[in-house]
Amino acid sequence: MSTITLNQINTLPRAEAAALLTGLYEHSDWIAEQALDARPFASAAALKHAMVKTLEKAGRAPQLALVRAHPELAGKAMVSKSLTAESTNEQTKAGLTNCTPEEFAHIQQLNASYNAKFGFPFILAVRGPRGSGLNKQQIISTFERRLHNHPDYELAECLRNIHRIVEIRLNDKLGYEPALGHEVWDWHEWLAQFSDVGAMSKHAPHAAREELTVTYLTDAHLKCASTIELGMKACGFDDVHIDAVGNVVGVYKATSHNAKTLMTGSHYDTVRNGGKYDGRLGIFVPMACVRELARAGKRLPFNLEVVAFAEEEGQRYKATFLGSGALVGDFKNEWLDQQDADGVTMRQAMKQAGLNINDIPKLARNAADYLGFVEVHIEQGPVLNELDIPLGIVTSINGSVRFVGEVVGMASHAGTTPMDRRRDAATAVAELALFVEKRAAELNAVPANTATNPTSACVGTVGMLTVPNGSINVVPGRCQFSLDLRATTDAMRDALMNDVLAELKAICERRGLHATLEETMRASAAPSDAKLQGLWENAVQSLGVPVFHLPSGAGHDAMKLHEVMPQAMLFVRGQNAGISHNPLESTTSDDMQLTIDAFMHLLHNMQASQK
Ligand SMILES: [Zn+2]
Repeated sequence: MSTITLNQINTLPRAEAAALLTGLYEHSDWIAEQALDARPFASAAALKHAMVKTLEKAGRAPQLALVRAHPELAGKAMVSKSLTAESTNEQTKAGLTNCTPEEFAHIQQLNASYNAKFGFPFILAVRGPRGSGLNKQQIISTFERRLHNHPDYELAECLRNIHRIVEIRLNDKLGYEPALGHEVWDWHEWLAQFSDVGAMSKHAPHAAREELTVTYLTDAHLKCASTIELGMKACGFDDVHIDAVGNVVGVYKATSHNAKTLMTGSHYDTVRNGGKYDGRLGIFVPMACVRELARAGKRLPFNLEVVAFAEEEGQRYKATFLGSGALVGDFKNEWLDQQDADGVTMRQAMKQAGLNINDIPKLARNAADYLGFVEVHIEQGPVLNELDIPLGIVTSINGSVRFVGEVVGMASHAGTTPMDRRRDAATAVAELALFVEKRAAELNAVPANTATNPTSACVGTVGMLTVPNGSINVVPGRCQFSLDLRATTDAMRDALMNDVLAELKAICERRGLHATLEETMRASAAPSDAKLQGLWENAVQSLGVPVFHLPSGAGHDAMKLHEVMPQAMLFVRGQNAGISHNPLESTTSDDMQLTIDAFMHLLHNMQASQK
């Protein structure tokens, strides 16, 4: 296939340019043609976004028609060989033309159920997030999963998959490969081979093989650290070492000796059964940039320090942001005596890992040496995915506070204890959970809050609610629970917290119970530094994709560094509605390439501003 150029699309007469784009949208060339109204395109990404906008503006009827113009997956059209050339290529690559009779029958059954529920065919970009093809099992399990979606959501998901199909088809036409994006995507796969064994298998034996769990200083965690260390060395960093808390630190030195340092990075630990990109994307993207700089023999006028933080998620020990905390002098010595679920103290775990606890205080950085901290992170939310925008500029990281607690009442016989004599600890916590839900929603409804923060202004969650040794015929005497409260400003967070704590007290008094509560984490809201945020904005703009702002509902290492230096974050769109802390977390190699390009741009722009 002869390739075309962006310049041709921008400069040829409209009809000729449109002819170059035929076959992008299945039997629907009008989309690319109308998108040409937005010429000239600064980049292929800009053309992709213009096509997304064209379909969005067209409304529901043409959107449905487009979805219905697609063949069924491994359906009759494939068997009778009446697919378009593009579809044949994609279905063949996914191995769908080579199904066993059983697989084929199962897919036909899924096609029928799907069509009966939604009234349009199931559409999946079978070439997947890396463009190299999903396997049959991945396709079938996605099909099964999406059958449960709400019809409105599923139509939108089909359209997103169509845009992804088009993105890959356009890449093919342009003879373009997101080569660095592919590589960084592969690095995530490589690192994901290391996982704590059996962390989930107690609850779901079938999940054990696929799960990714890397908690502080386990064998898998140490293997991740040494793999990242080797990777940094291979990329051409000048100094690479593992520090006293297990952070992997790589420095790419400046041209001059007394230059300041830009710090970046994110965490390599994961939650239990987490995703492959949470944290790690923010390590690998700058590593790829350093490798490109080193290959080109280029130096920056500042040191670039990339830190792979050892611990952010607070899974094995209640020590969230341990890795970044150590760099701002906020390592808490009492953490050392905490025990994990197996009774191993952090002190023992650190000694066993060969870490020198006495060196921890020396890790605190002198902020005067730094230009600031930037962090790339997968969004972990649905906003960018819903809007079909690859990158987002973070304006502020929400402040948060967490508690674990226990309500104690009286365990008694479920049959003989009258309803008005019960001291049920679980229903008290249930009541509290409903209050958290209601109060957080009310605070969001205050106009002053929603105007400045359209997304995740204020959220509250009771994520754990356990009746220890509960029985079917016993009124719960104890109930353990957690509280996670967040808001865009500290004032809003504290307002929610004070209301929730007062309600807990009131519930306990009314029900004759008592509660204990331990605060396990409190983090201040962290607004982005205007100058660093501006550098991200310029970088994103230079790629020809929309400059979109959003707050971060999740906490990140950047909020720790914020305590001592300016910071700003860049979010990357996640697939599957941006799901995170879940194996379905996903992002494409095209989006990774854009992220690398944006990071490179930021480095070069910062270089210019430092001269
Ligand atoms: Zn993270």
